[in-house]
Amino acid sequence: MNLQAIYHLPKSNYCYAYDKDTIHIRLRGAKRDIKKVVLIYGDKYIWEESKKEVSMSFNCSDEKYDYFKASIIPINKRLTYYFMIEGEKESLYYTEMGFSEELKSEDIYKYGFNYPYINEIDVHKVPEWVKDAVFYQIFPERFYNGDKTNDPENVKLWGELPKRDSFFGGDIKGIIKKLDYLTELGVNAIYTTPIFESPSNHKYDTTNYKKIDPHFGDLETVKILVRLCHERGIKVIFDAVFNHSGYTFFAFQDVIKKGKDSPYYDWFHIKEWPITVEPLSYETFAFAKSMPKLNTANPKLKEYLLDVAKYWIEEANIDGWRLDVANEIDHHFWREFRQVVKKTRSDAYIVGEVWHNSLPWLMGDQFDAIMNYPFTNICIKYFAQENIDEKRFREGINRIIMSNTQQVNEVMLNLLDSHDTFRFLTKSKGDVNKLKLASAFQLTYTGTPCIYYGTEIGMEGEDDPDCRRCMEWDKDKWNMDLLSHYKTLIYIRNKYTPLRRGSFKWIEIKKDIISFVREYKDEQVYVLINHNNNKKNIKLNLDKKYCLDIIKGNSIQINDGIVNITILPYQYKIFLVKDYI
Ligand code: CA
Repeated sequence: MNLQAIYHLPKSNYCYAYDKDTIHIRLRGAKRDIKKVVLIYGDKYIWEESKKEVSMSFNCSDEKYDYFKASIIPINKRLTYYFMIEGEKESLYYTEMGFSEELKSEDIYKYGFNYPYINEIDVHKVPEWVKDAVFYQIFPERFYNGDKTNDPENVKLWGELPKRDSFFGGDIKGIIKKLDYLTELGVNAIYTTPIFESPSNHKYDTTNYKKIDPHFGDLETVKILVRLCHERGIKVIFDAVFNHSGYTFFAFQDVIKKGKDSPYYDWFHIKEWPITVEPLSYETFAFAKSMPKLNTANPKLKEYLLDVAKYWIEEANIDGWRLDVANEIDHHFWREFRQVVKKTRSDAYIVGEVWHNSLPWLMGDQFDAIMNYPFTNICIKYFAQENIDEKRFREGINRIIMSNTQQVNEVMLNLLDSHDTFRFLTKSKGDVNKLKLASAFQLTYTGTPCIYYGTEIGMEGEDDPDCRRCMEWDKDKWNMDLLSHYKTLIYIRNKYTPLRRGSFKWIEIKKDIISFVREYKDEQVYVLINHNNNKKNIKLNLDKKYCLDIIKGNSIQINDGIVNITILPYQYKIFLVKDYI
């Protein structure tokens, strides 16, 4: 066996409490190297009486490794354990001390792996509603101009191509006026990019954290927006920019004037006073001089920002926060942030902007999830650019699944594009079929889908600012077929519980076919996606009596447990399978 590849670590994504009673255990090994893994576990204080064993099931493979898993309900909430790993030629015990051919009972107390105790307060509880949500991301300046009286000066004509500093007049009232559109689309949550006072069109350089930007509306407009959304069953989350402020934020202006005499001097990372922008005499976000980096370790600033987090939940009744540049802010801050937010609204959704592996933020004491850009990247590679095959795609998705806990995977914000990326349809060079397949995957996969405004009608755009074009409201310019595809998939996701809450398992049927099953209680939903130029004939083995083609709405004949299916090029099929009609 390749012992170097074998890995396990308690209190990580390899061993965590899924709920107050259950511990998930994962073990990693080299690909196709391990034949069998047995988990031996018990309570270390009464080892001999409590000892049990269970065979760990093969879970999945990523690009490099195989993963095995087990789910354990320990007696007395305590878990001590070790592994018996069987390869082609040898069988070894694996404990914290490494590998051995023999293991004495008395060694287990010292060397066994431990999840010492499930303290319920430490268990990562994610908000239940997020599992049922389909998010819609809105960039307010470009969604709809609902109030011409609050427009900035020199707004461009709606629909002109945006430049970095263009204004078009979109606002909060614009979102309110288009709520019917969102309801018809079927989404039940929105995430708006920042709406607080700021000189820019994107508002990622906040100058007043407690004031709605006057070009967008005011506190009253925002309260109305959230109330009307809630009446329609739509949740609302806002965007908090706590990594940096805007240049004209009162505290930074005070530092510019008074230097060390300013009580706000330590709210920033000032290298040298007086403040200069060339060279930069203060730390910023990504060298942007308009965005001085905040020192979130400063107690006064922390108090100020945590109050902001609480204020908008209390005042506007929002359902959570998306956190900008979340990984450049200290963990201490985020731990306190979670306490304050969850105390104010226990089911608030906290989703960080982190583009990479995010485990250090996702163990239950900071965020609930991240914007799942690793998911975005693998979907673009496979569906849009077609530069990996379906095996690599599965492996990439598996790597993402294995790098987080199950409860985090269940509420990950899965996106294909955003205000910070190319539009998916531009990545696929305008090929709508590819977007359809990718969104079919996104809307049937584990986690919470997030649709970037306009993607559902076929909008294109390159990197910022091109991906921030005005929402097209001329229906003649909409791709009606694509929109209808989105509406159908959202409807299906909302209707069939396995697609929101079911387990997820790949089924390997045929090359170029992405296929998986999601199971919840006694219902299964099968998804088959033909990402290929050729028609595919498939035999699907089912152990249930009833099979419904969800898209077409007709039931399918099952003969001796087998269903024959034909999928046309670049088409997908979704089946509901159960034992009764
Ligand atoms: Ca306006």
